[in-house]
Amino acid sequence: MSTPDVVIVGGGIGGLSTAFALSRGGLKVRVLEQAKEFGEVGAGIQLAPNCTRILDDYGLLEEAKARGVVPDTMVMRDAVDGSDLTSLDLRDLERRYGFPYLVIHRSDLHGLFLEACREAGVELVTEQRVTAYSQDGDKATATTEAGAVHEGAVVIAADGLHSVARKLFVDDQPVSSAYVAYRGTVPIAETGRPVDLSEVVVYVGPRCHFVHYGLRGGDLLNQVAVFESPKARAGLEDWGTPDELDTAFAGTCDAVQQGLPHMWRDKWWRMYDRDPITTWVDGRIALLGDAAHPPLQYMAQGAIMAIEDGWVLAEHVKRLRGDDGAVDWAGALAAYEAVRPEHCRRVVLTARAWGELWHLDGVKRERRNVLLRARKVDDYSFTDWIYGPTALFPSHEPAMFEPIPLVTADRLAGDLADALAP
Ligand SMILES: Cc1cc2nc3c(=O)[nH]c(=O)nc-3n(C[C@H](O)[C@H](O)[C@H](O)COP(=O)(O)OP(=O)(O)OC[C@H]3O[C@@H](n4cnc5c(N)ncnc54)[C@H](O)[C@@H]3O)c2cc1C
Repeated sequence: MSTPDVVIVGGGIGGLSTAFALSRGGLKVRVLEQAKEFGEVGAGIQLAPNCTRILDDYGLLEEAKARGVVPDTMVMRDAVDGSDLTSLDLRDLERRYGFPYLVIHRSDLHGLFLEACREAGVELVTEQRVTAYSQDGDKATATTEAGAVHEGAVVIAADGLHSVARKLFVDDQPVSSAYVAYRGTVPIAETGRPVDLSEVVVYVGPRCHFVHYGLRGGDLLNQVAVFESPKARAGLEDWGTPDELDTAFAGTCDAVQQGLPHMWRDKWWRMYDRDPITTWVDGRIALLGDAAHPPLQYMAQGAIMAIEDGWVLAEHVKRLRGDDGAVDWAGALAAYEAVRPEHCRRVVLTARAWGELWHLDGVKRERRNVLLRARKVDDYSFTDWIYGPTALFPSHEPAMFEPIPLVTADRLAGDLADALAP
């Protein structure tokens, strides 16, 4: 094997999309994946305009739309009484941001990037579990547990939540939210109830929420049921089990109850994030995707941030590549690190706040509902900073961010109390 320009560790959505972005710019890229095959587990994924903008630039948007569903509306409902709380008109959203809101099966999105990488000539190597990193001047290496040494001008670690490379930067651990997600896909003909696939729906309830939307042109229904585990709160090891699922959703409305029998009950995902870090680059080694910024999923931005990371890095590489093909890697990595960590820090923290807001109970839940119902349907102040192009900034200057509308549950409840005070 000849020496690549870039070695990427991890063949998830972050690693593959970055490999494609760099190779279409003319670099030789090798991806190392620990598994026997490249693939994705899980079900659906939501792709907001800040991602479909990039898919369009990659020439992959039409195929992604063909494999997914482009819904008309996103609706938030109360999980207890089923009433509407607020919504986004996704057609208007598309007009505002220039690109659609799309929902797609994870394996279809992953497969799209895998095919694009193959066509672009990316070297895709499986059964390569990387356990060590090193660097010397203008070279960096990733070494596998079997002793294979992969060298490149740069090594990018896109090795996910349990990243080995992250230990080079910080001595931290994943933070447990004590929430767990059940997923499930079911052929639409087998749901046993009418489901409007023009909607992406989230039912928010006390310590739980339930999401559904269509996949594969409407052939499949994707469902996600998320709840707080009492066993996790009590510090028990065996948490998130199906009995806890049933108890958590016992008080929810008929629409949610009808969806629950279709959840997969043999596997579940415990929800972790990590505290944000702002250093992602050390010489010729860089973090990307969940390795750098794993979020809780409440903003549906984890995979999107990984895709954005790769696009931004590739844009800076393009800008700093000389006529002889040599890349100013120090400049490109510094520019990447100047713009991405702050944006991702805000997404990770805002996702935690959204989780609090969704899962309120008692009077706070009722106050939240009053405020959400009062939201104007064309108020985009919560989405501009994230769906607009500002997160990408292909500039080497630190971005000038708008103040973030970081709404915590307590602040929201406090706002309403203030508003109602005599
Ligand atoms: C319930 C749920 C719903 C979600 N919904 C959305 C959504 O709607 N929209 C969205 O944008 N995001 C969503 N996310 C988040 C999203 O799934 C992740 O942020 C995203 O998959 C991260 O991609 P990644 O490539 O960085 O990491 P990963 O997907 O974790 O990929 C890492 C890859 O690296 C490999 N690897 C790991 N360690 C090594 C090693 N040492 N050597 C070699 N290879 C290694 C792994 O096998 C894997 O293939 C959701 C997450 C959850 C849990």
